[in-house]
Amino acid sequence: MKICMIGAGYVGLVSAACFSEFGFDVTCVDNNPERLKQMEEGRSPIYEPGLDDLMARNIAAGRLRFSGDLGPAVKAADIVFLAVGTPMRRGDGHADLSYVYGAVEELAPYLDGFTVITTKSTVPVGTSREIQRRLAALRPDAEYAVCSNPEFLREGSAIQDFTHPDRVLVGLDDARAQEVMEKLYKPLSIRNAPVMFVSRESAELAKYAANAFLALKISFINEIADLCEEVGANVQEVASAIGKDRRIGDKFLHPGPGYGGSCFPKDVSAIIRTARESKSPLSIIEQVQIVNDERKIAMAGRIVKAANGSVRDKTIAVLGVTFKPNTDDMRDAPSLVIVPMLQERGATVRVYDPQGQKQAEPLLPGVTWCADANDAILGADVAVVLTEWNEFRALDLKAARARMSGDVLVDLRNIFSADAARAAGLRYHSIGRPVSA
Ligand code: NAD
Repeated sequence: MKICMIGAGYVGLVSAACFSEFGFDVTCVDNNPERLKQMEEGRSPIYEPGLDDLMARNIAAGRLRFSGDLGPAVKAADIVFLAVGTPMRRGDGHADLSYVYGAVEELAPYLDGFTVITTKSTVPVGTSREIQRRLAALRPDAEYAVCSNPEFLREGSAIQDFTHPDRVLVGLDDARAQEVMEKLYKPLSIRNAPVMFVSRESAELAKYAANAFLALKISFINEIADLCEEVGANVQEVASAIGKDRRIGDKFLHPGPGYGGSCFPKDVSAIIRTARESKSPLSIIEQVQIVNDERKIAMAGRIVKAANGSVRDKTIAVLGVTFKPNTDDMRDAPSLVIVPMLQERGATVRVYDPQGQKQAEPLLPGVTWCADANDAILGADVAVVLTEWNEFRALDLKAARARMSGDVLVDLRNIFSADAARAAGLRYHSIGRPVSA
């Protein structure tokens, strides 16, 4: 079976590499010349653990190749995936589908023989139908079926997530397409991964509903953390106690500076738009968005407060700027709100991130980039943990205190214990925990 993957980003490239590992013949098409050049040289343009090795193995086996030319790949394909971006549209907060429809227009002339065309991108309910309508106008002669196959992988553990999914979700209304999709996911279904066939509308909406629910869990625990601080409870104990209840589950109950990343902010915004336009507003999710936006701002205020009420002429070391560890992705990272607020209040900001510097540099002007965490905290009045990269957990706090000129550590990810920080001579601030925790 031949696959054409249009869009070689965090989702497209990982999916393409994994499908080729299953033994399928995959051509990955991207129109970004820089990304394409790197992939043609056998390098991943994004940081994702394990991806370089997976690519190398399948390129060498002749199952994975890259191209800037969509025509031949679409012509030969049994399945064409659309894995292009669907960012937040400026102005109304809806999903911007221009890349999706742009790719549909590009591929239409090359459809040859029965072809399954499926979105992997997260697209609002009704998009498959609209793709079908456009294709019918562009290629009334062609034989194809349009499906929805939303992707649930997480950056940082994308390969593991793709190859060991909680479920694979396929929305379709065509028996021939179902045969093709069953064959495609056979390597997972024989290992007992649930492959669910549902309507296209259900598949499209389920992806947004899942992300909205996860965002809700994060905002919920963030507000519970604030309450813990007021009443002397410990959010980690509360989260662990409620998480034991299987109806709640113990995942996504870690308080922090608010959710960010390439999916939650834009998907929450888009489902809110869909719901409003459908006259069935999601008032809970609208509140989640407000809580999260306010949280990022509140976190900057928390750092200022920890620095005795002012950061003017102070040096702040920021450890981690990506929206989460194990990725270089900076899209909608909380750091993009918090760092400029500190700069506006007169702070000098020194930053270290293990993988994020290249993407973050143009987004965070005026900061000093440092070679490692120890370099970043040198001479700092305040150190802030913004992203919980594993290497920060191993930081020697006594040595860190000696390198700083101040003694304030603001840990927005709760990676240290207050006792260890105090023993190192640091004034420690974390989220939702009493000072001694
Ligand atoms: P991305 O921006 O990293 O990648 C998109 C790629 O598509 C880019 O490399 C771009 O150059 C390419 N592209 C755009 N138009 C093209 C065209 N006409 N022809 C060829 N290439 C084209 O985006 P991403 O993070 O991989 O996300 C893709 C989709 O998957 C989005 O809808 C997103 O919501 C969804 N998704 C993302 C994640 C994630 O963790 N990043 C997880 C699940 C779902």
